[in-house]
Amino acid sequence: LFAGQSEFVKGVVAMSGLPPADRIEVCFAGRSNVGKSSLINALTGTKGLARASNTPGRTQEINYFTQGPELYLVDLPGYGYANAPLPVVEKWQRLLKQYLSGRQTLRRAFVLIDSRHGIKKVDDEIMTRLDSSAVTFQCVMTKADKVKDKDRAAVMEQVRSALSKHPAAYPEIVLTSSEKGDGIATLRSIIAGLE
Ligand code: GDP
Repeated sequence: LFAGQSEFVKGVVAMSGLPPADRIEVCFAGRSNVGKSSLINALTGTKGLARASNTPGRTQEINYFTQGPELYLVDLPGYGYANAPLPVVEKWQRLLKQYLSGRQTLRRAFVLIDSRHGIKKVDDEIMTRLDSSAVTFQCVMTKADKVKDKDRAAVMEQVRSALSKHPAAYPEIVLTSSEKGDGIATLRSIIAGLE
């Protein structure tokens, strides 16, 4: 699945704008600045791919990328903008809810968590939302290179404990560093196994 090229397809603001459901897809969610663009770039091996769409005005869109001919990678809007106006927040929450429960070809949602910070309240809220959607979600720890081994255990324990309260959570946690490349091959093979 990861042999082919990646391209930005489109930014979607309403369910009616979704591309044809003609291939499987996985989506990525996370707080702003968690390292989502970097992870998508690392997965696809395409520098600047997700960055291109991560400009003001595009951040409230669901961004579609092709990965080869058989897979879409879907970049969900970053959440946790403290100062986003309420109507904006409500609009994307509505879209997110529709997308997560109504997209037949969606195979898994990956929730990105910063290895330094663990699961915050907004992450937990997204996970609760995912519990009532049709899809399993899996945690991906980002920026693993920024955390010392001795500090990692505590964060992982916090994450494991939080996940145990979510029926839709897949128990395996993937530790990644887009910077160093750690965990990227593992995540690719997890996605490749989802067909
Ligand atoms: P996004 O807002 O979630 O798309 O986050 P970005 O991918 O733009 O990353 C936010 C910041 O974290 C940028 O300065 C990145 O260079 C940095 N970053 C992302 N991934 C890593 C990583 O694996 N290791 C380190 N050290 N920094 C990272």
